[in-house]
Amino acid sequence: MAKRDYYEILGIDKSATKVEIKKAYRKIAIKYHPDKNPDNQEAEEKFKEAAEAYEVLSNDDKRQRYDQFGHAGVGGAAGGGFGGMNMEDIFSQFGDIFGGGFGGFGGGFSGGGRSRQQRGSNLRVRVRLNLEEMMEGVTKKLKVTRMKLHPEATFKTCPTCHGSGQQVRVMNTPLGQMQTATTCGTCRGTGKIADHIPNGANNQGLIKEDDTVEVKIPAGARDGIQLQVRGKGNEAPFGGPAGDLLVVIEEEEHQDLKRDGNNLHYDLHVSLPDVVLGAEKEIPTATGKAKIKIEPGTQSGKILRLKSKGLPSLEGYGSGDLFVHVNAFIPHNLSSKQKAFFEEMREDDNFNPIHKKDNKSFFERVRDMFG
Ligand SMILES: [Zn+2]
Repeated sequence: MAKRDYYEILGIDKSATKVEIKKAYRKIAIKYHPDKNPDNQEAEEKFKEAAEAYEVLSNDDKRQRYDQFGHAGVGGAAGGGFGGMNMEDIFSQFGDIFGGGFGGFGGGFSGGGRSRQQRGSNLRVRVRLNLEEMMEGVTKKLKVTRMKLHPEATFKTCPTCHGSGQQVRVMNTPLGQMQTATTCGTCRGTGKIADHIPNGANNQGLIKEDDTVEVKIPAGARDGIQLQVRGKGNEAPFGGPAGDLLVVIEEEEHQDLKRDGNNLHYDLHVSLPDVVLGAEKEIPTATGKAKIKIEPGTQSGKILRLKSKGLPSLEGYGSGDLFVHVNAFIPHNLSSKQKAFFEEMREDDNFNPIHKKDNKSFFERVRDMFG
């Protein structure tokens, strides 16, 4: 998306004075202030956009470069310069805009201060699944050690910031009083401090506890995917939201079946008489066994396809297939009788390979199947 013109964002014209720029920014910043627009992504974007425009236009040097070269002059056309700035940066850099130091503005906001509920940290566990479990889905009971809020821990409002989570510093400058807001050092921005910490709990009121979490793993899971169980990570100090439990899937290799995405492959070794005369064979599947028919005259290297006997797609779109690769075993040591038989067949035209034009090579067949 193309970046909007900074003057347009602030609704001012190119000849605007510094006072007009500041006024325009403050108006927009108040309108889209996160305290007024909780959980409003669009307002937050507008708030950040205005902060970026103000940061450039309020600085003579940057403004001149912007006027001359546009966005490219102030940190690159690719959204650079200011894009990585988060709300806290904006508050600490432009805290004075919201405070009382400018033009007697005194309503509503406490120096841009917003207490932030601290969230519990995420926990990560690994779970090993066999092919059958990945094929059908499984519910696992996982043992985890989580930080939990001690039931007897109590907390009170931070006396330093009175719960706002921010400390406002007033500085006297030649331009008048300036206010800057920084995260409260006493409560680290949470607005609360410990009141009573029971024995065994840490200074945030948390205690380590073993827990069992039941996790439903959907059919089609594969190695390396990560499931997120909301709220089952570590609990947060001061009663904030708990972190998540991240479950990383590890795949146990099957003894006979090889997995490729949602498809399975099996190498079937059969005797020469079986491919010549035909046979019925039992093969392993992800969940048990299946019978498969080898037609008389089956070429070694032929791939038989058992539709939908692979793994279901995790996204719910059908299933993979099971491919059976037929390998005919050629004996090494023949009896004199067997040798004589094959010697005789060497002269027999029936044993000569036939290369019909439409006889696709092994590689062409593999390509057709997977292409
Ligand atoms: Zn505080």
